[in-house]
Amino acid sequence: MQKEKGLIWFTNNLRAIDNKVLYEASKRSDSLIGYYNFDPLLFKRNIWGFKKTEKYRTKFLIESIDNLKKNLSQLNITLVIDFSEGFNKLFEVIGREKISSIYFQKEWTSEEKKTQDKIFNKISKKIKKLSFYDQFLFQPSDINIEIADFPEIFSIFRKKVEKKIEINNCFPVPKKYPKSNLLNIENETPNLEKLGFKSFKIDANSAFPFIGGTDNCLERINSYFWKSKKIDYYKQTRNGMIKTDYSSKLSSWLSNGSISARYIYWQIKDYEKKETKNQSTYWLFFELMWRDFFKYISIKHGNKIFNKNGLSKTQVNWINDQKELKNWINGTTDEPFINANMIELKKTGWMSNRGRQNVASFFSKNLKLDWRIGASYFESILIDYDVHSNYGNWLYNSGIGNDPMPFRKLNVKFQSEKYDPKKKFENLWLNSQYELEL
Ligand SMILES: Cc1cc2nc3c(=O)[nH]c(=O)nc-3n(C[C@H](O)[C@H](O)[C@H](O)COP(=O)(O)OP(=O)(O)OC[C@H]3O[C@@H](n4cnc5c(N)ncnc54)[C@H](O)[C@@H]3O)c2cc1C
Repeated sequence: MQKEKGLIWFTNNLRAIDNKVLYEASKRSDSLIGYYNFDPLLFKRNIWGFKKTEKYRTKFLIESIDNLKKNLSQLNITLVIDFSEGFNKLFEVIGREKISSIYFQKEWTSEEKKTQDKIFNKISKKIKKLSFYDQFLFQPSDINIEIADFPEIFSIFRKKVEKKIEINNCFPVPKKYPKSNLLNIENETPNLEKLGFKSFKIDANSAFPFIGGTDNCLERINSYFWKSKKIDYYKQTRNGMIKTDYSSKLSSWLSNGSISARYIYWQIKDYEKKETKNQSTYWLFFELMWRDFFKYISIKHGNKIFNKNGLSKTQVNWINDQKELKNWINGTTDEPFINANMIELKKTGWMSNRGRQNVASFFSKNLKLDWRIGASYFESILIDYDVHSNYGNWLYNSGIGNDPMPFRKLNVKFQSEKYDPKKKFENLWLNSQYELEL
């Protein structure tokens, strides 16, 4: 019988644990190879002039790939690493190793689909292409909701799934291949310089000083859940803005798939069984449902999530004012709270959820600037950028998405009083002399 020779094209599923694509591929393949491309398109400038991926996320991505490479090598699987626009090494490996099937995570947003289609059009139809959804907590095949009928309001979605739909168990780590499965090739991960950036130091005050890769995410879970038990207070602290522990900080690993939402869910369940079950442990699950919600919204509405009017039927006249835009980006508006958040973002690639809501609402509702430019800046600079969460939240905060009260506007002064009453956060980013008390 002919041997099944599999190849996994990794994209935003950069993990060896609880990975459906890897699990399905290894079940079916006598030999298996991994492939990842630092596609140069990811580092080009977009129509608004921002690099699609700035240095912070690039660094995190490099670390994630390094860790994936290590974890796959423990299963005797080689990760072929490429950084060519033409996906050259993919075609080379497919030809040389006589690959019979390609496995990958199913995507639906236009740029990801375009890349997949471009590549698959050049690959023989005889090679099987098998894709699987694996970025959800509640799988599309399980939710019992037709996508066309998917609710526009988060709480309706939540009530339909949270107590009624079971979350799947994690997929086991696949069997170890014999050593002969390893390829004898050079597969060095490119460094920041190779991808067009200077190396840099993480800001000492960063709320996200973490390193990419599944192993570091597991360490973070261990620390936030099991060691410090900070998860017990998540609901009370989640609107914080300073240092690492006001929230879980799991988003960046989730975004590039170094961890799955399912894995985190089962960690919460385990923690609730062995340690504490309270409103805070539930709330982390609640927030993960928001993540799913925006993924389903983007499946339902397709490219509308990138449109000027978003999901709204009314025409909005956004302004494109370069001076106001620069003030917002550089943290030189009239609002210190906005400025502190924007400076934090620029210096670290991170901003709290409270900050993100405020700066987005200020951008589109106060300054009336074109929300797509703000969202595109976030896309460029956030370490945890995720297409569905970013565009879904921007639409929501700009009043043209899924907010049931789209006309509400955050009062920045009130928000600053409420969430930064002693001005610790503002001082931290607006006054470089200020040092945090630890
Ligand atoms: C304008 C704007 C843009 C955003 N862009 C992104 C983005 O590109 N990538 C991203 O992951 N999140 C985005 N968010 C959502 C949210 O701000 C981050 O997920 C959160 O701050 C990450 O920190 P954490 O992991 O400590 O979250 P926690 O508070 O610990 O929450 C746990 C997890 O729940 C999910 N989650 C929490 N809040 C939201 C939310 N509002 N929407 C969707 N998922 C959520 C995340 O996966 C997060 O890791 C955005 C929010 C706003 C208002």
